[in-house]
Amino acid sequence: MLDSAVLSTLPYVPRPVMWQVAKRYVAGETLDSAIRALSALAGRGHPGIIDVLGEDVNGEAQARAVVHEYQQAAEAVVKAKLDAYVSVKPTHVGLRTAEKLALSNYAELARYCKQRGLFLRVEMEDNTTTDATLRIFEELRKEHDNVGLVLQARLFRTPDDIAKLAPGKLSVRMVKGIYLEPAKIAHVDADAIREAFVRCTQQLFERGAFVSLATHDERMGQSCLEIVRQRKLARADYEFQVLYGVMEPVWARWNQAGHTVRVYVPFGPQWLPYSLRRLRKNPQMLRHVMRATLGLGGK
Ligand SMILES: Cc1cc2nc3c(=O)[nH]c(=O)nc-3n(C[C@H](O)[C@H](O)[C@H](O)COP(=O)(O)OP(=O)(O)OC[C@H]3O[C@@H](n4cnc5c(N)ncnc54)[C@H](O)[C@@H]3O)c2cc1C
Repeated sequence: MLDSAVLSTLPYVPRPVMWQVAKRYVAGETLDSAIRALSALAGRGHPGIIDVLGEDVNGEAQARAVVHEYQQAAEAVVKAKLDAYVSVKPTHVGLRTAEKLALSNYAELARYCKQRGLFLRVEMEDNTTTDATLRIFEELRKEHDNVGLVLQARLFRTPDDIAKLAPGKLSVRMVKGIYLEPAKIAHVDADAIREAFVRCTQQLFERGAFVSLATHDERMGQSCLEIVRQRKLARADYEFQVLYGVMEPVWARWNQAGHTVRVYVPFGPQWLPYSLRRLRKNPQMLRHVMRATLGLGGK
């Protein structure tokens, strides 16, 4: 109850107070801050993913500007000699305006990244975008071999979507799904989502995909590793992916056990909506926001 009361007050919390909390999850507002964070992570043995924060842009000009920002991010990754790639939301490059616009923007980014030896991940947003995102990804795959997709375990449709993907080289980031979807189309029970994640992972491995296990759920990670073990997969066939600032002790344990742990580093002025989503997952941090807002300090 306390948490939901705090949640409802979040939009009224002053921006500087929110930043004190958000900076745990976001590298900073500038590309330089993201490159610094990625370099520090590289020093600790973690490859990275760079994400320019934002979504739901309107119109061609705005979407083009986002493509330009991603090109600069890709360039900076290459210049800093980082093992990192770019990850892009469909509505950030124009999906809400037109599917064709998002496709052409992704295609341009895929070419740009390919020329620099980088990979490009097409992210997955809420269920209103799933069909279009899958169509875009399948179109991209015909021309570009440096693109991957995200699939959400929460959605009932995902096993069918996996089955329908065209044959050939495939790289999928498997996630539980951050968007709370209605019970008629998605699992809502935490255990059901976990089981679906493991089943989808198995299905992806069966078709020879490279799977990025994007989670901080150690128990579920263990079940996925059991499949890796049974199938005698190599380190090159899978990796863990984690969010900047979330559950670092888990990354360390996976790393020490010899698994690759790639860290997703978001940056940019649009940090507020992203941080609000993360805070909704973490009641302890919510209490921290409340104490800071009331001027009580503390950790
Ligand atoms: C690299 C990466 C990329 C992603 N891309 C997408 C995407 O494209 N589309 C999409 O829908 N979703 C995406 N997600 C989000 C994903 O769907 C989940 O919402 C998110 O990973 C949390 O689920 P979990 O598997 O970690 O399990 P959970 O059960 O949510 O969490 C496991 C443990 O981690 C802790 N934890 C989780 N989040 C936080 C947090 N913010 N702060 C503190 N502790 C936390 C929980 O308290 C719990 O103890 C991505 C996640 C990652 C790691």
